[in-house]
Amino acid sequence: MKILIGKNAGFCFGVKRAAEEAYRCIEAGTDCATLGPLIHNPQEVERLRQAGIASVDSPGEVKPGQTLIIRSHGVAPEIYSEAKRLHIPVIDATCPHVAAIHRLVREYSAGGDAVIIVGEAEHPEVRAIAGWAVGEAFIFSDPKEVSGRVLPRRALVVAQTTIKRERFESVLEVLKGMVPDLTVRNTICAATSQRQQEAEALSADADVMIVVGGHNSSNTNKLYETCRQRCARSYLIETADEVPVDGIRETDCVAVTAGASTPQWLLDEVVNRIRQLFE
Ligand code: SF4
Repeated sequence: MKILIGKNAGFCFGVKRAAEEAYRCIEAGTDCATLGPLIHNPQEVERLRQAGIASVDSPGEVKPGQTLIIRSHGVAPEIYSEAKRLHIPVIDATCPHVAAIHRLVREYSAGGDAVIIVGEAEHPEVRAIAGWAVGEAFIFSDPKEVSGRVLPRRALVVAQTTIKRERFESVLEVLKGMVPDLTVRNTICAATSQRQQEAEALSADADVMIVVGGHNSSNTNKLYETCRQRCARSYLIETADEVPVDGIRETDCVAVTAGASTPQWLLDEVVNRIRQLFE
C-alpha cells in the first residue's frame, strides 16, 4: 500500500500561531480563556480544555485573573474596548492576514467608502471584519444576494480569507455592474487555495482519499467535497478510530489531507493507523 500525505495538510500559519500562543500560556502557567473555540476541531478543543484553557463567549465571562486569547479569526474593535474596560489582559492571536483586512476596512471606510465583504455572514471572521467598518458593511455570499440591492456608488470589496475564488469572482462580476467606483482587494488566503489545489491533485491520483478534520469545520467540509468529486472512495474522518478499515485494500494508493484546524498529532495518529492496517 502506498500512502501520500499532503504537504499543506493541517494547521495553516494563522491557526498554528494561535495554538502556539495557547500552549505557551499553558507552559507558563498563565490562566487563560479563549474567546470562542480556538480551533474548529473538537479533539484539539478538548485537549486544550483538559490543559486548563476553556472557551468563553464574551469578555464578561472571563474569570478574575484570567487572560483572554483572541483566536486567529480576529474580533471587532468593541471586544478590545470591553476587555480594556473590564481590565482583562489580552493575548491577540489574530492572524496577521486577517488583521491586515481590518486595517484596510477601517482605512477605506473612514475615507468614505462603503465596505462590501464576500463571505458567510455568520462566520466569526466575517463578523469581525464587518465590525471594523465605519458605518454599514454589506455581506454577500452569493451573486443572487446582490441582485435587487441598492448599493452605494463608492465601495471597497474584500473577501473572507477562506472563500473559494470562483465564489468571490462571481459576486464581483455582479458588483462591477452596480458600483461605479469599486476598489477590489482579493483577500483570499493562499493557504486555503494551496491546500485545495493539493487535495485536487492527490484525490485525482489516489484510490482512497482520507480527509482529516472536524465535521463542524467549513474548510474541512469544502476539502472533502473537492476530493469526493475526483475520488469516489473519499472519507471525512475526525480521528484514527474512524479510519475506514474495510474500505482500504493492500494494493491501494491512499492519500491523506487535513483541514486548516486539524492538529499534527491527530494527522499522525491517522497515518499510523493506516500504516498498521497491513503490517
Ligand atoms: S487561513 Fe490564512 S488568513 Fe485564515 S488563519 Fe489561516 S493563514 Fe490566516
